[in-house]
Amino acid sequence: MHRTHTCGELNINDLGKEVTLAGWVQKSRDLGGMTFIDVRDRYGITQLLFNMDEDPSLCEGARKLSREFVIKVSGKVVERTNKNPKIPTGDIEIKVSALEVLNPAKLPPFLIEDETDGGDELRMRYRYLDLRRNPVRNNLILRHKMAQEIRKYLDNQDFLEVETPVLIKSTPEGARDFVVPSRMNPGEFYALPQSPQTFKQLLMVSGFDRYFQIVKCFRDEDLRADRQPEFTQIDCEMAFIEQEDILNLFEGMIRHLFSTVKGIDLGEVPRMVYADAMKYYGSDKPDTRFGMRFVELNNLVKGAGFPVFDNAELVVGINAKGCAPYTRKQVDELTDFVKRPQIGATGLVYLRYNQDGSLKSSVDKFFNEDQLKAWAAVFEAEPGDLILLMAGPTDKVRKQLNELRLEMGTRLGLRDKNKFAPLWVIDFPLLEWDEEHARYHAMHHPFTSPKPEDIELLDSKPGEVRANAYDLVINGTEIGGGSIRIFEKSLQSLMFKHLGFSPEEAQKQFGFLLDAFEYGAPPHGGIAFGFDRLVSIFAGLDSIRDVMAFPKNNSGRDVMIDSPATISDDQLKELNIKTTV
Ligand code: ASP
Repeated sequence: MHRTHTCGELNINDLGKEVTLAGWVQKSRDLGGMTFIDVRDRYGITQLLFNMDEDPSLCEGARKLSREFVIKVSGKVVERTNKNPKIPTGDIEIKVSALEVLNPAKLPPFLIEDETDGGDELRMRYRYLDLRRNPVRNNLILRHKMAQEIRKYLDNQDFLEVETPVLIKSTPEGARDFVVPSRMNPGEFYALPQSPQTFKQLLMVSGFDRYFQIVKCFRDEDLRADRQPEFTQIDCEMAFIEQEDILNLFEGMIRHLFSTVKGIDLGEVPRMVYADAMKYYGSDKPDTRFGMRFVELNNLVKGAGFPVFDNAELVVGINAKGCAPYTRKQVDELTDFVKRPQIGATGLVYLRYNQDGSLKSSVDKFFNEDQLKAWAAVFEAEPGDLILLMAGPTDKVRKQLNELRLEMGTRLGLRDKNKFAPLWVIDFPLLEWDEEHARYHAMHHPFTSPKPEDIELLDSKPGEVRANAYDLVINGTEIGGGSIRIFEKSLQSLMFKHLGFSPEEAQKQFGFLLDAFEYGAPPHGGIAFGFDRLVSIFAGLDSIRDVMAFPKNNSGRDVMIDSPATISDDQLKELNIKTTV
């Protein structure tokens, strides 16, 4: 038998037991007559004791062990003289009577400790060693628990988990597809799913009614901290429902997760329409852990002769509470921040509301004290506050001020990782103007239904048509999104037409769906959550990498298995792929 117990379970109630443990050597300490070894497995750490006087050869053997050797020991559970209250096994140790090295180990390239000395790239290369460290392993344990709770909740609600194919056809969902050449069909390619969208809709046509899947999705996009080429969605679809049913059911799922996994009562998830999210936060995923809502000033600032304001479509600002004492240097820093090329603002106007009640702005030349007072009033500013204003084209200036608001939130410590502010953003626009291609795109995807009352605007003001589409946002991160779908062939065809598809193209790309809609498609809708992001929020991490067992680096490479890689000429030939090099 390799072990009678794990390294995390023995305690004072086990005194006197003869046990066998197996695991990895965490560290060893030689104290003359005694040698102590910490043996570690997934469950914890147990201290082993070897006594030179009692068994010199056994103790010599223990002294030869290095970090990460795999060992098996037998011995008796005894009480420690020097207890360690920080670990569950800290009251006991094993007085070892037999030691076996199951496998020696090379010295690992970085410390297998909570705080390691290994850089990112090195840890990715030896990911199997990194996964031995508590913080990384704990993230995967958390991920597992969350997946189980999700399955429990959805199963209780009569959802069926159905697997959909991974080798499918390229579908336009906003991102680039990963493609796989088909050997048996020369010159043709499968695509990996960006999501199982059309399949889950077809399952509704099949009568499955409530579907979910915890499923890998693939998008060939430029990578960022919260993006990986392959990632996992909690993908869901329901029939015979309305938006309200979906919001309630999945709000329930998120609440269930918070309460069972984190012991947090999330309370009711507030809702905000997209137009308000943009107006008050400049973002469709506002971080509502803090206020600092935008205040628009057009009617107070126009016509005073200050060209930046006079020429701007929108003058809008935030109140940074308590920041009036900011030094000139600090304000300059903020100006530099918004002028960075990534943000691209031309400048920042400030109004200090000093403790003594006096007002000082960077545009005193153009505005008198009464005017400045009126500004302070609309911001509900108090002495000690600092008002920051920006001006420009509406969409652009909102985006820029959103960045500044988030920066101020960070500077003021208002973005606490242990605080959770969920929010439904609803009533998204159906279409989004694409400057580059001078045409409209579906903002969510082409299967999203317009709000019935807005359909008549499709021809005249397509940009104003709202969709039955919704996102779940937590702490400024989009965690999930979905929509009520179109389920009539005529409306779906109209939609394709508005997205610039000819009837032939629509039939070629989506004929299977349009056909299915003629065989009794029920009203349906759904949502998909980014599982990796959800786990990373629960874990208090910024990156989704550390909640994945084997993630890729920023260039989309797996540096451990060294992928992607070239393939042999024979393979290429077999796949009918001609290379130009
Ligand atoms: N398939 C969509 C997505 O991946 C989610 C949905 O509409 O259910 O964003």
